[in-house]
Amino acid sequence: MQLFPCPFCGARDEREFHFMGEAGKTRPDTQQPVSDADWAAYLYDQRNDKGRVREVWMHLPCREVFGMQRDSVTMQVLGTTAFRKAGA
Ligand SMILES: [Zn+2]
Repeated sequence: MQLFPCPFCGARDEREFHFMGEAGKTRPDTQQPVSDADWAAYLYDQRNDKGRVREVWMHLPCREVFGMQRDSVTMQVLGTTAFRKAGA
C-alpha cells in the first residue's frame, strides 16, 4: 500500500483515490465539428512518460480533484497541487 497526500485531507491510502488522467491535455474545441478520432485521442491516448509526470487525481471521500506530480518509475509522489483553495 502507498500513501497519497490529498491537499485537503492529508496522507491517505492510495485505494481512496481515482486517477483521472494526465495533466495538460487540451479538450477539443466543441465550437467546431470534432471527429471521433480526435475525441478518442483526447479521452484515451496517454503519453505514458517515464520519470516526472503531472496527473489529475480525485480523492473519493472528499471528492476533491487535484494535481499530483509523481515519478512514474519509482512511483514516488513528488507533490500535490489543489485546484481550489481550502474553504472556497
Ligand atoms: Zn481529500
